[in-house]
Amino acid sequence: MGEEAQRGSQGVREFLNSNAGKGVTIAFILIALGVVFFSIKGSFGSSEIQNFANTRTFICAETLKPYQYELTATSKIPAPSPFSGKNTGYPAEMCYWTKEGKIRPTPYPVLLNSYRKLPEPTFCPDCGRLVTVRNPAPQSGAKPPPTEAEWKANPRSHPAAE
Ligand SMILES: [Zn+2]
Repeated sequence: MGEEAQRGSQGVREFLNSNAGKGVTIAFILIALGVVFFSIKGSFGSSEIQNFANTRTFICAETLKPYQYELTATSKIPAPSPFSGKNTGYPAEMCYWTKEGKIRPTPYPVLLNSYRKLPEPTFCPDCGRLVTVRNPAPQSGAKPPPTEAEWKANPRSHPAAE
């Protein structure tokens, strides 16, 4: 049996050392690399690509219109705004609420007063509720932030306004 097996493995080695055998080996490696490449590529969704590019929602202080802006290491704030044609773009804070105190289906981009050098807290122009820096996304069952009237009635009972 030993002699038979030896002859068999020698045959494989001879085949691999032949030009045809090398071609098959290279083709197999290329196919394997291709499979690895496409499985890596497929695992990145568009949202991850967006995070990687660091695209953020900005808002133009002159027109109050939101737009997508790609932050780079050399980006300055205020950033160029496509609406004013000047450097009037600031990172938008997202408001997640409606007037009725329900969670908004799509967050509303808000320009914080602190970017406009205004001392007053920022209230969302859409729902009239308090918006703070890194405004938290709501958990289900969470209490909505105070409206301007609620906040003015008792500012100390609410989280610090920015
Ligand atoms: Zn709002």
